[in-house]
Amino acid sequence: MATYSIHFLCNECGQEHQVGTCITLEAGPEDKASVSDIYHGRDLPLQIATAKSNITWCPKTCMLTSQEDNDRVFLVPMANVK
Ligand SMILES: [Zn+2]
Repeated sequence: MATYSIHFLCNECGQEHQVGTCITLEAGPEDKASVSDIYHGRDLPLQIATAKSNITWCPKTCMLTSQEDNDRVFLVPMANVK
């Protein structure tokens, strides 16, 4: 079991932001991986689907943003989050 932080690539500023949601997976990736790589052709866990549909602030531009593209949503092992 490992805990992951959900990150997304921001459409507003092009940088990566942390959603602030953590998820625990039985068999998750060892390194940062995109949701599309991990769940290729499978249903997303509810926590990820919810995080994706949530609208968040971009801290750089102060614009509201969200990310629906699975290629631009990432799971990062908490051990790797600095
Ligand atoms: Zn941003």
